[in-house]
Formats: sequence, structure tokens, C-alpha cells
Amino acid sequence: MKIICIGRNYIEHAHELNNPVPSQPVFFMKPETALIRAGLPFFYPDFSQDVHYEAELVLRVCKLGKHISEKFAHTYYDGIGIGIDFTARDVQNICKQKGLPWEIAKAFDGSAPVSDFIPKTEFKDLYDINFSLQKNGEVVQKGNSGMMIFNFEKLISYLSSFVTLKMGDLIFTGTPAGVGPVQKGDTLRAFIGEKDMLKIDIR
Ligand code: MG
Repeated sequence: MKIICIGRNYIEHAHELNNPVPSQPVFFMKPETALIRAGLPFFYPDFSQDVHYEAELVLRVCKLGKHISEKFAHTYYDGIGIGIDFTARDVQNICKQKGLPWEIAKAFDGSAPVSDFIPKTEFKDLYDINFSLQKNGEVVQKGNSGMMIFNFEKLISYLSSFVTLKMGDLIFTGTPAGVGPVQKGDTLRAFIGEKDMLKIDIR
């Protein structure tokens, strides 16, 4: 099982980190050991002083595929959840400056808490899914799947031209604006629509 993450998929978020808006999806991966299931805490890593939350809709891949066309991409995922792409921003900024890969800032153990999944068929409109993140009870991020630069089908098609997708793989689809730091003692809660999907205590 692998976790594929999309970067810079919302214009406002690309702008807030002074990144260009990409003409093709940007992606990177996290290992299986990054995954935290719903309800378990996040342990603040000692190699960073600036860990940020990034709330993202997450697709659950339901069958094997390579070179998937956009037309059939919708048949390759069956559930949508929400996750946090925890990022050691201070470490990532050094990687960016030096032109190095992002793994030490993005792929560390516990960096990918993910909620349970809602069956895709329960959504009325896959291009109009609201989601949000609260930190200590205050809304810090709001997004909508319709605001994505590259939609679910485009992402699946593009990713599968490089990497074979397998059942159980997860795709983090990018974060909207409003990313920010967490501290020990904070609590994050992630919502799809009004549904409280994921609670993470930062320890
Ligand atoms: Mg992200």
C-alpha cells in the first residue's frame, strides 16, 4: 500500500507559499508507516520546530490500474475520506532551497492521519464536496473539491501514467489555503460537509 500526495492543487494555497501554479500535477509519496488511523494521536517530531497541518480530501483506490484514461478514472476509487498531510515546514523550506527531495519533511512516521471513508456513491456531486479543518475549535481551513486545479479524474489518470495504482492505495488530493502550525496540546478536527470525520490530538 502506498500514499500518493498531490501538491499545489489549489491556487490560493500555491500563492500563500509563494509557489507557481503548476501546469501538471505535482506529486510525492509517503510510506505506509506515515499512516495513522482515525482517533490516534500525532506525536510532534523532534527534528522540526514548525510542523504544519494540511487538510486534504483522500481517495481510496479500489482496483489495479496503469495508464488509466480520464474517462474511466472514476471507476478506480470507491471512497472519499479526509486526512492531514503533516509537513515539517522548516525542513521542507531547506529542501526547497537546496533543490533536495521533500521526504524528510513529508514522509516521516505518523505524518498521514486518515479518517474512515465515505462511499463515493453517497456524494450527490463529487465536484462540490465541502471540507474543513478546525484547530482547537476554530475553523482554519475550508475547501471544496470544485476548487481543485486538477480534478480527481485528472489526478488518477496522470499518476497512473507513472505509478501503477493498486487496491488500497490512498491519494491525498491537495490542500486549500490556510495551512499553519500545530503545537503540542492542540486538537485538530476535520470535517467533510458537516460530518466530523477525524480528531487528532497533538502530543
Ligand atoms: Mg499537502
